[in-house]
Amino acid sequence: MSIINFAVIGYGGMGSYHAHNLIPAESTRFHVVGTYDISGERQQISKGKGLHIYESLDEVLKDGNIEAILIATPNDSHKEIAIRALRAGKHVVCEKPVAMNTDELDEILAVVKETGNVFMVHQNRRWDPDFLIIRQLYQNKTIGDIFQIETRVQGANGIPGDWRHLEKHGGGMLLDWGVHLLDQLLWLVDSPVQSVHSDLSYILGDEVDDGFMSYITFENGVRALVEVGTTNYTKLPRWYVKGLEGTAKINDWDLSGEIIAATGRKDVAAPTPIQAGVGLTKTMAPPSEEATEKLAFPEPKADFVPFYQNFYEVVREGAEPIVKNEEVRKVLKLIDDIFESCHKG
Ligand code: NAD
Repeated sequence: MSIINFAVIGYGGMGSYHAHNLIPAESTRFHVVGTYDISGERQQISKGKGLHIYESLDEVLKDGNIEAILIATPNDSHKEIAIRALRAGKHVVCEKPVAMNTDELDEILAVVKETGNVFMVHQNRRWDPDFLIIRQLYQNKTIGDIFQIETRVQGANGIPGDWRHLEKHGGGMLLDWGVHLLDQLLWLVDSPVQSVHSDLSYILGDEVDDGFMSYITFENGVRALVEVGTTNYTKLPRWYVKGLEGTAKINDWDLSGEIIAATGRKDVAAPTPIQAGVGLTKTMAPPSEEATEKLAFPEPKADFVPFYQNFYEVVREGAEPIVKNEEVRKVLKLIDDIFESCHKG
């Protein structure tokens, strides 16, 4: 099958990662030809790495040798670049968040429909090993039916970079990390969202949120707490998940943590009361030894192919995209609702 030639628009942190790591990882399918970035400095770095430098987006779009483009510019520019690229006959991979809001996304999707070109959003955290473990626990009911999910990312370095501090560029943590955690959650729990309560934080005094907490209830009864923080000097676990027959905790990206499952044995001794602070408790005492067992995490395996392999198969073979535009829209609509609810109090 023939190679797909890519151009990267926005050769910053993520654009260069796509150009040198993600796209070349599928080297029998893709070739990165060149880049376009509004920053001369970034263009020079790209040139130094042997990539072709385009002087404008128009020049990229007029190049008949380019079949697909990757958009890795600040969030407010995704829509215009995507629409122009699709109209120029290119397939598009777009970084997350796909756009600033669902109205913008709907404009893009209208052009996708009109042109028939492929448009896929890089919701790459569906492939994260920690998420793949949680997904297997959820699907295989390893700890019984999961009814509560806490998913968090917490840093202590504030909002990074420049444009992420500004509303006009689509800055803030809900659009940045929130879109990842909400995408994972909505993909995991296959049930409509029933209610959302959220709180954006502005601790650092920026015009955009530096973190948020959302409490989401799904129609199937699953409840989730989603939290992003940038002022956390010590962290809570990345995942804390409760099932009817056990509890799982993944501490961090290193996949440390534990699964404690109920053995279901009937003949176990009652827990012994413990001294707790200045009081006594049986309720909060550890279960007796025979009542629980420690289980190993499953291998973090995906039952779906890597992102760029899937993109290739979608373009060349008409395969089903793993990241579907209607799923991306659902997440963005939820983000719209969270912003609206928080801004209107
Ligand atoms: P960045 O600031 O490092 O890079 C952005 C680059 O785009 C800069 O070099 C800038 O000069 C260039 N640029 C700005 N406007 C442009 C335009 N109109 N045309 C061409 N170039 C332009 O930002 P980043 O961290 O790389 O983020 C870029 C995008 O990637 C954002 O949408 C972000 O949310 C996303 N991202 C995704 C992940 C992920 O894991 N999926 C991780 C980081 C960033």
